[in-house]
Amino acid sequence: LDRKRIVILGAGYGGLRALKKLQKMKPDAELFLIDKNDYHCETTSLHEVAAGTADAEEICYSLNLVIDRKRTTFIQDTVMRVDRKFKRVILKEHEPIAYDYLLISLGFEPEYFGIAGMDHYGLSISDIPSVTRIRAHIEGEFKKWTNDHRPEHLIIAVGGAGFTSFEFLGELTHRIPKLIERYQVDRQLVRVICIEPTSDALPMFNRHLAEYGAHKLSDRGVAFVIGRVSGIDGEQIYYKADNQEHTLRAGTFIWTGGVSGSSVVIESGFDQRRGRVMVTDDLSVADDATILIIGDCSAVIDPESGRPYPTTAQIAMQQADCAAYNLNAMLDGRPTKPFVFKFMGTVCSLGRDDAVGEIMGRDLKGRPASIMKKVIENRSLAKIGGVETMIKKGRFSLSK
Ligand code: FAD
Repeated sequence: LDRKRIVILGAGYGGLRALKKLQKMKPDAELFLIDKNDYHCETTSLHEVAAGTADAEEICYSLNLVIDRKRTTFIQDTVMRVDRKFKRVILKEHEPIAYDYLLISLGFEPEYFGIAGMDHYGLSISDIPSVTRIRAHIEGEFKKWTNDHRPEHLIIAVGGAGFTSFEFLGELTHRIPKLIERYQVDRQLVRVICIEPTSDALPMFNRHLAEYGAHKLSDRGVAFVIGRVSGIDGEQIYYKADNQEHTLRAGTFIWTGGVSGSSVVIESGFDQRRGRVMVTDDLSVADDATILIIGDCSAVIDPESGRPYPTTAQIAMQQADCAAYNLNAMLDGRPTKPFVFKFMGTVCSLGRDDAVGEIMGRDLKGRPASIMKKVIENRSLAKIGGVETMIKKGRFSLSK
């Protein structure tokens, strides 16, 4: 009999963690990992590269650090769709890859909610190319200002006031003084504006912590505007506030207003909502037990709220452990186990030495929260990349 084949799509928090676990379990199966990149990206730090406070290399590491070539075949390619009828994965450059069991962990894509011009003019924090572009764009606008002194070059607008927005704004407030110095700009001319439809910034935290975060960013010069962005073109951003239409001329517009699961999930005909599939208890797909979906492409209902858990690296990694166990069990013909999420807390960075968070029911802010953030980041590096990767890439100094 031919050996069974497990194919993992995506080498992010979910996929790479699952591969690491499976390699350790030594199942009697061929393992395949497919990703468009040959590196793993610490997506939770992308905002730092976007703001220009970290370089791309600092938040990525080679997949070679995790892949055991004796057990795993790695294919670097873009997944186009899953052909469920013939149990194979369609790739951009390579021949289709057949699977017996499939684990989908292709992460997220920006969601524009049909806002006019957003896909073209809005910049989003989603992967290394996108954040490298944002960093270059912001710097490019400062450079342009030195030539024509048009004020919009120095206006940076951010759509959305959630987790990613606050983390990005926190870093940006540290980056701006450097740009001001480099391009000899008057501080008063630089404006950072965050536009959000409701007064509920950072909705995942209690109001006390959310207000702390908003005040800290305001103190560092961020202006908050309550308004709903309705469009963007090459000239300006359109938004509605107090039942009136407004426009804003800004050289840079970053969209952090929402994400959906990978479009591959949509292209493959799964029963999904915004690229997320409601998985069964053991993380498989309702009508096909050989396909498991984890991370941002999956939806698991929180029994307390009755709504899907927010998509996080935390849940993706816990799902990965359960998915690896279940794939191994399926190969052996043993029963699978249900996934149970254990919430470990959330910390949102506000830039260097500052953060807000809730850990084990306790509120944290300022430096203690920032230290906790680094502990969490180092733990995730160690859990996937290994201790050596954590030592090389980890966050140890307080000033970073
Ligand atoms: P990912 O880790 O995104 O991995 C997806 C992988 O699939 C990538 O390697 C990608 O290259 C690959 N891929 C995608 N499409 C294709 C394709 N078509 N073909 C081939 N390969 C493909 N979560 C937290 O828990 N804590 C935080 O503090 C936190 N902070 C965040 C800060 C920011 C700025 C952002 C953007 C997100 C943050 N998150 C945080 C959310 C977290 O990053 C995601 O929930 C997590 O990355 C999801 O893991 P995943 O395995 O589903 O996908």
